[in-house]
Parts: sequence; C-alpha cells; structure tokens
Amino acid sequence: MDKFNVIVIGAGPAGLKTAMRLKRLDFNQRILVIDKGTYPSFAACGMPFYLEGLVKDFNDLQKTSFGSLRDKNYFKNYANIDLLLNYLVTEIDPKSKTVLALNNASNEKFKFQYNKLVISTGSQAIVPPIEGLSIEDKNLFTLKSPSDVIKIKSYLEENEVNSVCILGSGLIGCEVASSLFNSNIDVSLFEIFDWPLATLIDKEIGLYLKKQMFNSGIEIYTGEKIVKFVSENKKTIKAISEKREVNADMFLICSGVRPNTEIAKKAGLEISARGSIVTNEFLQTSNPDIYAVGDCIEIKNLLTNKTFYAPMATYANRLGRLVANNIIKNNSQAFDGAIGTAIVKILDFNIARTGLSEKEAKDLNINFETVYYSGFDKPHYMTESNKINIKLIFDKNTDNLIGAQCIGKKASVDKTIDVAATIIQNKIPHNKVLNLDLSYSPPFSNSVDILVQGFQIYENKKNNMYKGISFEEVKEMFEKDNNMENVVLLDVRSEDEFKRVPSPFKNAINIPIDYLYNSDLEYIKNKKIIIFCGTGSRSYQASVMLKNKGFKEIYNLEAGVSGFY
Ligand SMILES: Cc1cc2nc3c(=O)[nH]c(=O)nc-3n(C[C@H](O)[C@H](O)[C@H](O)COP(=O)(O)OP(=O)(O)OC[C@H]3O[C@@H](n4cnc5c(N)ncnc54)[C@H](O)[C@@H]3O)c2cc1C
Repeated sequence: MDKFNVIVIGAGPAGLKTAMRLKRLDFNQRILVIDKGTYPSFAACGMPFYLEGLVKDFNDLQKTSFGSLRDKNYFKNYANIDLLLNYLVTEIDPKSKTVLALNNASNEKFKFQYNKLVISTGSQAIVPPIEGLSIEDKNLFTLKSPSDVIKIKSYLEENEVNSVCILGSGLIGCEVASSLFNSNIDVSLFEIFDWPLATLIDKEIGLYLKKQMFNSGIEIYTGEKIVKFVSENKKTIKAISEKREVNADMFLICSGVRPNTEIAKKAGLEISARGSIVTNEFLQTSNPDIYAVGDCIEIKNLLTNKTFYAPMATYANRLGRLVANNIIKNNSQAFDGAIGTAIVKILDFNIARTGLSEKEAKDLNINFETVYYSGFDKPHYMTESNKINIKLIFDKNTDNLIGAQCIGKKASVDKTIDVAATIIQNKIPHNKVLNLDLSYSPPFSNSVDILVQGFQIYENKKNNMYKGISFEEVKEMFEKDNNMENVVLLDVRSEDEFKRVPSPFKNAINIPIDYLYNSDLEYIKNKKIIIFCGTGSRSYQASVMLKNKGFKEIYNLEAGVSGFY
C-alpha cells in the first residue's frame, strides 16, 4: 500500500491550496490529492461570466494567471504533487489511517495510507423536493460544478433558448440571471423571500435591488414559492407558483449548497446540526490527524461567536493555507473567525455587505442604530461619478460599526465595504474612523470618504441633530391613514428635479431648500413634517433650519428619493 505524509480529498481551491502550501513549506512531503472529478483547481466563481461570454475559453477557468493549465501534469511538474483524478473516495478508516478510493472508469478500488488527512470535499447543489421536478430533464440544471457549466453552455449553444426560469435569488441565482439576461435571454426569477439576496442584505437595499432588476427587464417574483413543475414536450418547462405559471425553455435551480460530508460522517467524525464537519480553531476535526477545510465546514463568526456556513472561495483559499501551516508547524496558527463579507455584480449594479445585518443585530439583542444614506462614490462633477446607497449599523453602546451594506450602479462599493470590513473586524472606535487618513483625489473618491460620511451622519443622529425615517415607515403610515392630514411631506429638491424625477409620495409639497428659510411655514408648524430631497443631505440641512425656526416634529427621509428609485 502506497503511503503519503498527507492525503487531501478534493482538488478544489481548498484542497489544492493546502497541497501547494504544504509543498512550499516542506518540499519533501509526499502529498496525494484525490478527486472524483476531472477539472482540478477550477475557478467556479468564473462560471457565470463564462456563460455570458466574458470568459472566452472554458480552460481559462483552470489556468494560472501566467497561462498554465492546472492539470495533473502541472501539479506533478510544478510541485511534485500526485493528483488522482476520477477517483471517488468512498471510505476513510481513521484507525488504520487509510482511505479507499474507487477508480470511476475501471471500478477498481485502491487503498492509500496517510499520516495526516485533509478533507476538502466542498459542497453540492441543493435540489428541493418539488412536485414534477426531475434533475433528469435535459433542460433543467444546477450550477455548481465544471460539468454543470459544460452542460449548460452546450445546451445554450445547441438549442434555441429564448427564456430561462431560475429558482432562487441568492448570489449564484442573481449572478446567473444577470449573465443570461445580458446574453439576450428572457429571465424570470422566483424567490421565496421578499427580496433578492435576502440572507445577505436588509430590506432597504434588497427592495432597491429588486426594483432595479425589474426595471431592467428581469421578471423577478419575490415572496413566491414554486410548488410544481411540468415538463412540456421535453422542450419547455412550466413552473407553477401560488400566483402564476411561467413557461421557459430552460430551468436553473439555484437554491443554495450543502456540505459534502458523507465520508466524514461514515468515518465517525463530528458533524454539526447543519451537516458540516466540525473543526477547532486549527481546522482539526474531532480526530486530530484529520483536518477539514472549504465548503465542507462551518467557520466562526467573530460578531456572533457562533459558527456560520459561508461556502465562499475566499475562505477556502485562505484557510487552505492555514491548514498547511498547521500541519507542518504543529498547529501554530489559529483561525479567529470571519465577519461575512461578500460582493456581487448583478447587471450593472454592484452590491456588497459585511458584518451583521439588521435582522442579525436584532436576533442578538444588540442595542443598535442604523443610518441609510445616498451619495456619490466620487465628486458629482466627475463624469465617472456614481450614486451609491449605503446602510450602516452601529452598536449604540459602543458606537462601533457592526454592519454595512451598499449598492450602486457601476459604483465602487468594493472600497467602501472593504474599509467597513477592516473597521468592523478590528473594532476600530468611532472617533478613530472619523480621522482615518484615507486617500482622496476626484477620479477616485471624495474629500470626505463616503463611508466616513456615514459615521458623521450617525454622530448627528445620535446627538439628536435629526430624526430619521425610512421609506417603508412612511409607506406604513400611508397604509394606516391614507389622508395623513397631520403629516406634511416636504420635498426640498429644486423645481426642476421635482419635475424630472417625480416624488415617491402623491401628496408631497415642493419648497426648494433655497426658498425654505424665507417661506411662510406657519400653516404647517404644528404638523409632523417629513422632509426629503435627492439623497438625504439637503433634507438634513432643511431639518436643521426648521428646528432653528422652532418646528418640533421633523423627520428626515433617509437616502431621500435615491433610496427609492
Ligand atoms: C457559480 C458560482 C459562483 C461563485 N462565486 C463566488 C464568488 O464570487 N466569490 C466566492 O468567494 N465564492 C464563490 N463561489 C463559491 C466557491 O466556488 C466555493 O466556495 C469554492 O469552490 C469551495 O472550494 P472547495 O475546495 O471547498 O470545494 P469545491 O470547489 O466544491 O471542491 C471540492 C472538490 O472535492 C471533490 N470531491 C467531493 N467529494 C469527493 C470524494 N468523496 N472523493 C473525491 N473527491 C471528492 C469534488 O469533485 C470537488 O472537485 C461560487 C460558486 C459557484 C458555484
């Protein structure tokens, strides 16, 4: 029986990152990587862009930045790593420290011995049990593995596909909806939650995104569950929800992934309630000679102190390195946790999030405050300036930022969210953020960074310089009392803006801020006044003005009209 220092099960990003790092730390290690598939080190994250044609060649998803195909020979020649492809590991025996692998082609079984074992078996697509749904249908797909994308691409090329229906608007569902829509295919998208990316972003950003997707032409049905599928003439599929029936030439199931843990379970390793392999801070499983990494594990959330399932390549890659360090350097590197930072491009909209959502903050009983505002990622006078809507969540007891989300058409949300993630993860105090020395020049940013502006807004809100109100709260007020006789909706945008972009409220009055101070407002003095403008900044100025004039009940519509359109 062949014996190895380390055997790695799974040749995805987690497994091969571990293997390569092991070799870099100690080239004498004998490493065997076993995978049931054909395409090692495949960049699954690029699949939606390959479908759209932005990645021209399938092989590009398996190549290095310097153009080498990361195949079996590459790993042998580059790092003397043995890679067995098309071998399914069916059993781990922790007692004899062996793994049993089945050759997919010949059905022969082979046993290999390890000193340390790394399980990086990744995840698989969840296919929900819905009446009539058959993954055998030739026009019904999941998008998880290289073979999935090969099948989808050839189906698109060989058939006339004019319409696609997608179940699930998580990261993958939204990305693929965007890719296919950009390829001139009609897209309808069903989501059981009330807005897309619902487990990642809050209502304000989610409903805004939904509106943008809908306005762009994607038929997005939220709060709707598909209850039945009917395969029609083997050419189209009919999806039936509680509210409608949608026919499509092709159907994609994007309802999340679950960890691949069957062999770990069979080997008696501890498995979590969610079904992933339990590891300690060094990513050792319940057996100290076996490590696990990537989509098959849960990781610690630094903000909740609980574990969470975050099947993302960024964790698979970074933690693969950490596992190798711990194998060679005797558990010298603990993983302290993550905060759930994520980013995605849907059509022309960039969306990013980090830290806790409002719901998570509520569930943790945190005494929190939010600010929602709109601005520009660069000065408005630059041609490449883009609007960006940002929501920040602060812990009121410490004033620390605990969550951030943002969205903007072509906007540089990546910088905003990465700075926010750095602040949250390192618990940088509020007053230090106000003085962060961030770069500024008009082609890149604002003289006061847009994220830092949010800290200033929070400071103003906390010091009662204004009271905020959300669009949804105003909507609820309307629903309770359609006339709202004691409420004045005061739009302080210019007359021109008022004409160009209609007010989201039917009975708003328009007094541009330039005339506000000298206007006779006595007739509304005793009413509740909700002020709004384009982004929330002029309305803030207006609320300061009115407060100065003795007005008592003034609310500032956060993010203004931009939060809505
Ligand atoms: C469409 C799409 C877009 C994505 N976009 C992003 C993104 O933008 N950002 C991001 O961070 N993440 C993204 N991800 C997630 C990312 O691809 C995964 O988190 C990452 O691939 C996980 O790596 P892994 O090595 O843990 O698992 P995998 O990549 O799933 O690899 C596991 C490997 O194990 C093998 N295997 C499983 N069981 C066995 C067995 N018993 N025997 C032998 N071999 C076995 C499998 O064949 C597979 O090759 C995306 C994923 C998809 C599908």
